[in-house]
Amino acid sequence: MEYEAVIGLETHVQLKTKSKMWCGCANSYGSDPNTNVCPVCLGMPGVLPVANDEALKLTVLTGYLLNCEIPGRAKFDRKNYFYPDVPKNYQITQYDQPSTKNGYVEFEFEGRLQRVRITRAHLEEDVSKNSHFDRHSGVDCNRAGVPLLEIVSEPDITSPDMAYAYLNALKDILTYGGVSDCDMEKGMVRCDVNVSVRPKGTTALGAKIEIKNMNTFSGARKALEYEIPRQIDVLNKGGKLFQTTMRWDDLSGMTEEMRSKEDAHDYRYFPDPDLMPFEPTEAWLLDVQKRVVELPLARKQRFIEQYQLPAGDAEVFKNDVALGNYFEPIAKLSKNPKGVANWVINNLRAKLTEAHEKAVAEQSAMGMDPEDMTLPSVDDLKFSPDALAELVDLVDSGKISSKIAQEVFAEMFETGATPGSIVEKKGLSQVSDTGALEKFCDEVIAANPKIVEDYRGGKVAAINSLKGQVMKLSKGKANPGLVGEILEKKLKA
Ligand code: ADP
Ligand code: MG
Ligand code: ZN
Repeated sequence: MEYEAVIGLETHVQLKTKSKMWCGCANSYGSDPNTNVCPVCLGMPGVLPVANDEALKLTVLTGYLLNCEIPGRAKFDRKNYFYPDVPKNYQITQYDQPSTKNGYVEFEFEGRLQRVRITRAHLEEDVSKNSHFDRHSGVDCNRAGVPLLEIVSEPDITSPDMAYAYLNALKDILTYGGVSDCDMEKGMVRCDVNVSVRPKGTTALGAKIEIKNMNTFSGARKALEYEIPRQIDVLNKGGKLFQTTMRWDDLSGMTEEMRSKEDAHDYRYFPDPDLMPFEPTEAWLLDVQKRVVELPLARKQRFIEQYQLPAGDAEVFKNDVALGNYFEPIAKLSKNPKGVANWVINNLRAKLTEAHEKAVAEQSAMGMDPEDMTLPSVDDLKFSPDALAELVDLVDSGKISSKIAQEVFAEMFETGATPGSIVEKKGLSQVSDTGALEKFCDEVIAANPKIVEDYRGGKVAAINSLKGQVMKLSKGKANPGLVGEILEKKLKA
């Protein structure tokens, strides 16, 4: 029998707030263990949580970015469980009245638009981090109480690659919106992968296997690539699948069982008596709406349409937001936005990478931490953005050749001088004066009787060698189109 995979993801994302969800402790990564803690996030008796308004705003902002409904009332519940990572013995979350629900994410996948529905994106708090050593374990509560968004997808995903594309799309959207830095290395995005299989063409859902706490997207994809054939194999051998919670072991490349799945009633959810339900006012919502940004896919599509960019260029600007932001105002100034994109992507980006590497090398030689380095970006360029539009225009109007333009660009990058002034100062203007060009051509023809003979004898390509010599003679400044015409005329005479 043929089977198909059914996948739904629960993605946890740390929100980009200065302080934690219920107290004033810093929400920061890399501090010494248990230094960002207080009686509230340590779960001491007698303290009261106060909701972080910015976290509530980022949650609702995410709702807008994910095309969700924002209910008029949300509430906080206690999810009760006993484990050393949760000092209070419960985690505050949103159970039956989440801040956002019923949305979708749209992204490009295998050459078409794919939509995955979002069940809900709700706010909860992160828990502590356990570390296991040889003879003891440690609990670091710095992360306890950090605001966390849980984004639950409908089981609309049908392959490991689609899951991977969905996660990346989600990450792009949240980064664009300023909701989270989504730094995987700092554990800011983690996901639980739910997967079942069913006979192709049927609609009933099979028993769900949940693989907990994947902290890389490629790991999630690998786990699915392993788990789907495993489930199909069990069924093909006449076996039965049961709802199970599993763990992915990256070393063995296999899933292993953690526990049979717990149910909601195991957690004894109840409304947190210390927290009022959240009922946003119109003004508050309006404030959040002002922060809605253009989504990555929309930006890519708009760049293609508005500036006639090739999809590849638009994709570069989608992925490199700063570069795209730099490009757009110049594109608006220029008659040739596509030409500007070409310069920004092929020349400017290369120069920036070079400068970047140089700065890293210099600063690490000084013993500086990568976190503290100051690195060049488009904001530090010496030339003004309209200089780039001017440069493209100089090439398009035939004033300089594209080869000379490279030289001008290098100089602009170093000194910040305008392209016009560089061309003038260095006498780089393209020679389109036919008198001067004729003289160059005559000289080259006289010096190369053999090649001229070849050409006249029918080896048409021989003209290229002559053309090359004229260009050289003119130090690259001759207008190549004109040179071709003049040479041809003279040789045929
Ligand atoms: P639970 O209550 O066990 O957490 P949910 O119904 O909330 O389960 O679903 C959790 C995630 O699992 C969601 O992303 C959902 O799309 C996905 N999911 C639910 N049932 C299945 C299934 N049979 N196969 C694959 N994914 C599923
Ligand atoms: Mg769930
Ligand atoms: Zn605290």
